[in-house]
Amino acid sequence: MSTVSESFGSKVFNDAVMKARLPKDTYKAMQTAIREGKRLDLSVANVVANAMKDWAIEKGATHYTHWFQPLTGITAEKHDSFISPMPGGSITMEFSGKELVQGEPDASSFPSGGLRATFEARGYTAWDPTSYAFIKEKVLCIPTAFCSYGGEALDKKTPLLRAMQAIDRQAIRILKLFGNDSVKHVTTTVGNEQEYFLVDKEDFDSRPDLLFTGRTLFGARAPKGQELEDHYFGSIKPRVQAFMEDLNDELWELGVLAKTEHNEVAPAQHELAPIFSTTNIAADHNQLTMEIMQRVAKKHGLVCLLHEKPFEGVNGSGKHNNWSISTDSGVNLLEPGETPFENAQFLLFLCAVIQAVDDYQDLLRISVASAGNDHRLGANEAPPAIVSIFLGDELSGILEAIDSGSAYGAKEKMQMKVGVHVIPHFPKDTTDRNRTSPFAFTGNKFELRMLGSSQSVSDANTMLNTAVAESLRKYADVLESASDLTTAIHDLILKTVKEHKRIIFNGNGYDDAWVKEAEKRGLLNLKSTPDCLPYLVAPKNIELLTSHKVLSETEIRARLEIALESYKKIICIEAMTMIDMTRKDILPASAGFQKKLADTIAVKRTYASAADCTYENETLVTAAALTKAAYESLKALEDALAEAKAEEDVHKAAELCKEKVLEQMSELRASVDALEILTSTGDWPYPSYGDMLFNVR
Ligand code: ADP
Ligand code: MG
Repeated sequence: MSTVSESFGSKVFNDAVMKARLPKDTYKAMQTAIREGKRLDLSVANVVANAMKDWAIEKGATHYTHWFQPLTGITAEKHDSFISPMPGGSITMEFSGKELVQGEPDASSFPSGGLRATFEARGYTAWDPTSYAFIKEKVLCIPTAFCSYGGEALDKKTPLLRAMQAIDRQAIRILKLFGNDSVKHVTTTVGNEQEYFLVDKEDFDSRPDLLFTGRTLFGARAPKGQELEDHYFGSIKPRVQAFMEDLNDELWELGVLAKTEHNEVAPAQHELAPIFSTTNIAADHNQLTMEIMQRVAKKHGLVCLLHEKPFEGVNGSGKHNNWSISTDSGVNLLEPGETPFENAQFLLFLCAVIQAVDDYQDLLRISVASAGNDHRLGANEAPPAIVSIFLGDELSGILEAIDSGSAYGAKEKMQMKVGVHVIPHFPKDTTDRNRTSPFAFTGNKFELRMLGSSQSVSDANTMLNTAVAESLRKYADVLESASDLTTAIHDLILKTVKEHKRIIFNGNGYDDAWVKEAEKRGLLNLKSTPDCLPYLVAPKNIELLTSHKVLSETEIRARLEIALESYKKIICIEAMTMIDMTRKDILPASAGFQKKLADTIAVKRTYASAADCTYENETLVTAAALTKAAYESLKALEDALAEAKAEEDVHKAAELCKEKVLEQMSELRASVDALEILTSTGDWPYPSYGDMLFNVR
C-alpha cells in the first residue's frame, strides 16, 4: 500500500514526470508552451509523445484518447490502441507527436447547432497542454479542445480558454497602471463544491424515471424528509464512507485535490470540494470527479445521482463555483491589500466584478440554465433566478461611504478615500454565510452558487471571465489616458458604485419582498430556461463575446439552438417516461389493488354480511376517482407532448414544453402520488421515497 503522498498524481503526466523523463530542451519547450499557451513544434511533440507513451505503458495503459467536452456537457473519448503492426506479424507500441497534438474523432453525432453539416462530419481535437495528460482505466487521456474544420468551437473548453485569455489581457493592463510590471499572466482560479445523491443500485434499477431521466418523476413524500436537519454534517454511514474513501483514492491518483467531504442537507445527499486550481484545470477536474463518482458508486452497489432535482420535497443539488483572480506570482487580486495603494487596486477589481455581474446578469443566468436546474433556481432552496451580489456589511459599508463621500466606520474613524486609507482586513467569519445569494463575496473570492450539480462549469466561467474582462477593458481605456491616476481611479470607483449598486443585495434572497424590490431596481428575473436563453443573442451580448474573441456570432447562435433543442429533448424524454410508467405499471397496479378491494367487499358480503367494509369501500371509491384523474391527465399529457414534438420552431417548442408539457406532467404526478399513498406497499410497482432516501446505511 502506498501512502497518499506517494500515490497522489501517480496517474498524471505532470511537471515532475516531464522533468524526469524529457530531455532538457524538450522540457523547456514544454514549459514555454504551457506558460504561454502556445502550440508545440512537431519535433518537440514527437519527443513528448514518445515519453508519454513509455510512461503510460509502464502504468498499464494500452490505449490513448483525446478527452474533450462536447456541447452535450459531458466528456467524450474515442480510444485508439498504441499498437502498430511490424513485418512478420508482431506489433510495436507507437504514439506520434501528430497523434498527441491533434486528433480527428468522427464527430458527426455531437451537437453542433448546424456549424458542421453532417456530411462534413470531421471535427478535430487539439491538445490543451496546460491541462496534464492522465491515465484512466488503461487509457492515456489527453485533455483537448474540439473544433470544426472551419475553426468554430464545438466544445465548452475552447471558449473557456479564450475567456481566460481575455481576462488575462485586460487585467495585465490594469496591473501595469499600478506599477506591477513583473506580472506576466493573470489567471482565474476556481474551486467547485460538488453535491450529489447516493441511492442503492437495486432501487435505482427498479425506477424507469431514474434510469431514463436521472430524477424521480413520481413519488409520494416519505414520512421523514430533511425537516429535522439531522443529515447535514451528520456522521457518515459506513457504506458511504467506504465509497468516499475509494473515490478519494481514485481522484488523488489523478491529481484532483479532493479535500472536503460531508453529508448535505437532504437525506442521501453529500458534497465533495477540492482545493481550487486554474479554471480550465478545475473544469477538467470537475468533469473527472463527476465521472469517477458515478463509476466508484457502482462498485459499492450504489448509484450516484448528479441531477439537480432527483427528489421532490427535499433539496436538490448544486455546484458552488468559488472564483478569484490571481497573478502568476500567486497574488490573489480579490484579497484586500496591506497598503492603501493595494487597496485601490483591490477596489478596482472588485468594481470590475460588480459592474460585470450587473451588465451581464442575463449571460450569467443563461450559463447555468438547464431543464434540471430550473427545478432549483427560485425554488427557495437554491439562490433565486434573480442575479445579485452579496458583499457583506463591511464591504458594502465601504462602498456606501465612497458613494456618499462620508466617513466610513465609527470604529475605524477614518475618512474613506481610495488610495489613501487602509481598508480593514475582513476576517473570514465576518463575511456572513448568506446561503440565499447567487453570487457572494466570501473574504477573498466570489462564490457563484447558481450552477446545477450536473453542469459543466465551463459555461459559467466563460461568461464570468469575459464579463469581468470587459469591465477591466473599459477601466484600462479610461485610466491609461488619465493625467492624474489616483483621481481617475477614485472617480472610476465612485462612478461604478453609483451606477451598479443596484446589483448589490445583502438580504434574504428567498423573500417575496426581494422579487418586488429587484423589479423596482430593474434587475432581470428570468425564471426558466426558455425565458432566459433568447437573451444570449441580445446585441450587447454578441458584442461582448465577439469583441473579446470568445465566441463568434455564428458560434453563439449555434449554441442557442443546441441549448433550446436540448431543453426540448429532456422534457420530451421525461414526459414519455411518465407516460410509459403510468400506462404500463401504475394504472395496471392500481387496477389490481382496486380488484383486491372489490373482491374483499364481495367476499365479506357473501360470507360475513355483518362485517364492516368502510375501509374497502372508501379506499376503492377514492382509488377509482384518482385513477380516473390520472388517466385523464395521462391523455392530456400525450396530447401536449405530441404538440410540442410536432412544433418545428425550436423556440416555440421549448415554450410549449414549459407551458404545456411540464404543466401536464405535474397534474399527472399529483394524482399518481395520491394513489401511491392509498395503495398497499405490495401493490405499488416502485421503491418508495422512503426506500430511496433511507436505504443506504
Ligand atoms: P465553504 O464555501 O463551504 O465555506 P470553503 O471556504 O472552505 O468552503 O471553500 C470552498 C472552495 O473555495 C474550496 O474549493 C476552496 O478551494 C475554494 N477557494 C478558496 N480560495 C479560492 C480562490 N482564491 N479561488 C478559487 N477558489 C478558492
Ligand atoms: Mg460554499
